[in-house]
Amino acid sequence: MEVISPKNQINQISRQRKAEGSSVGFVPTMGALHEGHLSLVRRALNENAITVVSIFVNPTQFDNPEDLQKYPRMPDEDRQVLENMGVDYVFMPRQQEMYPPGEELETYDFGHLDKVMEGRYRKGHFNGVAQIVRRLFRATEPDRAYFGRKDFQQLTIIRELVRQLEMPVKIVACPIVRESDGLAMSSRNLRLSVEQRKHASVIYQTLKQAVEKKQELSVPEVKQWVSSRINNEPWMEAEYFDIVDGNNLQSITRWGDVAEKVGCIAAYCGETRLIDNICF
Ligand code: AMP
Repeated sequence: MEVISPKNQINQISRQRKAEGSSVGFVPTMGALHEGHLSLVRRALNENAITVVSIFVNPTQFDNPEDLQKYPRMPDEDRQVLENMGVDYVFMPRQQEMYPPGEELETYDFGHLDKVMEGRYRKGHFNGVAQIVRRLFRATEPDRAYFGRKDFQQLTIIRELVRQLEMPVKIVACPIVRESDGLAMSSRNLRLSVEQRKHASVIYQTLKQAVEKKQELSVPEVKQWVSSRINNEPWMEAEYFDIVDGNNLQSITRWGDVAEKVGCIAAYCGETRLIDNICF
């Protein structure tokens, strides 16, 4: 496995390998790798001749400087795990590499997609995500890029970004990987105290029960039920819960004919903000 920092170097490698007929799979991450990330890496390894994983904690997607500063970083462990899995290249750019001083940031228009849910509570977050994903795609020029459904809104916005910019990359969506009690794996889970960690599983338990309640309750009733169930749990406070059309993230009000209905939640467990989602 080779660890690479300059973007022109990873770009040269990718172009060369593609010219030789190899497909390139790419998994962007912010590191502190867990089984959720590794499921994406495994899939990329299975489906491509060459797999590139990036590790970069992207400052432009953090609306809160303290969150950025506290974000877990463990580059040595991450490299070791990826090496053992058989990853070909790890791209670990320095900040100046991805954001050269003096270079202007782009502004994207995602319409409704980045105004709701995460976008509503984390101003500028998705513009920052789009910023870095575009730069990483330019550097790695992958055939396929792998993203988790854990960040469902992000996945939708990246599909839209690729559509708007007509980038020749296939976006592959991967299922949410969970701990044994159902908590969606996240680098942020490391910040939970032992006691908080026990209560955090209420998020997924509530989402699962909400899906069952679909039989007896209306959409607004389920939305209401989820928030109050979360807020009744010690340490927990729901920031939002919404059930949206998976295609356009429009909030739904009736169990109707929308093909993909996704219930998306953000909740605080103590100071730690967690997100999850489930299909209805
Ligand atoms: P991050 O390092 O948090 O930016 O995540 C990198 C990628 O891993 C994103 O595409 C995430 O959606 C995905 N990911 C993170 N946690 C999980 C999980 N529990 N299950 C599946 N994918 C995940």
